[in-house]
Amino acid sequence: MEKILEFQHLSKTFGSNEVLKDINFSVNKGEVVCIIGSSGSGKSTLLRCANLLEKPSGGQILYKGENILSKDRDISEYRTKLGMVFQQFNLFNNFNVLGNCVVGQMRVLKRSRGEAEKLALKYLKVVGMDQYIHARPKQLSGGQKQRVAIARALSMEPDVMLFDEPTSALDPELVGEVLKVMKELAGSGLTMLIVTHEMGFAKEVSNRVVFMDKGVIAEEGSPEQIFNHPTQERTREFLKRTL
Ligand code: ADP
Ligand code: MG
Repeated sequence: MEKILEFQHLSKTFGSNEVLKDINFSVNKGEVVCIIGSSGSGKSTLLRCANLLEKPSGGQILYKGENILSKDRDISEYRTKLGMVFQQFNLFNNFNVLGNCVVGQMRVLKRSRGEAEKLALKYLKVVGMDQYIHARPKQLSGGQKQRVAIARALSMEPDVMLFDEPTSALDPELVGEVLKVMKELAGSGLTMLIVTHEMGFAKEVSNRVVFMDKGVIAEEGSPEQIFNHPTQERTREFLKRTL
C-alpha cells in the first residue's frame, strides 16, 4: 500500500503547552482515516501541522515518502496536494459559488478560466450544488455552504482531503446532507483524513480510527476494534461520554 501521508514522532508545543506528543501514524492511498477525541486533545493542531498552517516543533511529516519539513522542499507545491475543509466553511463571500471554486485553480494552479470552470462544475455536481453557481455564499444554508467548500477543495484535485469537523457548525437537520456527500467521496476511493464528532459516520465510513487524548494517540485501529472492542480505558471513557 502506498503511504500518502506519514507522521513520525510529530510534536507541537505552544509556549509550555505540549499539544502534540510523539504522534505516529500514516494514511494510505484510498484510505479514510477518522480522528476522534475530546475537545482540546490536539486534533485540529494535527491537521494544521499536516498542511503546515502550523509549524511542527519536532518530528517529521512525509508526503509520499518525502520529508516536507526539509528546507529545500517547496511548501506551496506540497500544499496544492492537500484539500482542506474547515468547520466554518471559509468561503469567499464576495465571490459566487462558481467563483469560489475557480479562484484557487486559476491563481495557484494557473489553470485557464475555461478549464477551471469545467472542473468546478464537475465537482459542484458531485456535491449536488451545480444548480447554484450564481448564488452568493450568504444566500446558502450552512449545509450548502459546506458542500460548496468541499467542491472548491476537490476542484484543486488534491491527493488527500483533510476535514476538520465539517459538520460541527451546522444545524442538526443539515448535517446529513454533508455526511452523505462525504460518504460518497469515501466510496469513490478518495484519500481522506477526517476529524469528526459523528461517531456513526466514523464507524460506517472509515478504514481506520485514531483516538486522540491529551496530545497523544491513545488508540488506533479498525472501526470495529475502536467502537466495539476498545483496548484502552480512556477510549472506553470517551465513547461512553459521546455515544
Ligand atoms: P482539538 O481540535 O482537539 O479541540 P486543538 O488542536 O484545537 O484541539 O487544541 C489543542 C490545544 O492546543 C488546546 O489546549 C489549545 O488551547 C491549544 N492551541 C491550539 N492552537 C493554539 C495556538 N495557536 N496558540 C496557543 N495554543 C493553541
Ligand atoms: Mg478542533
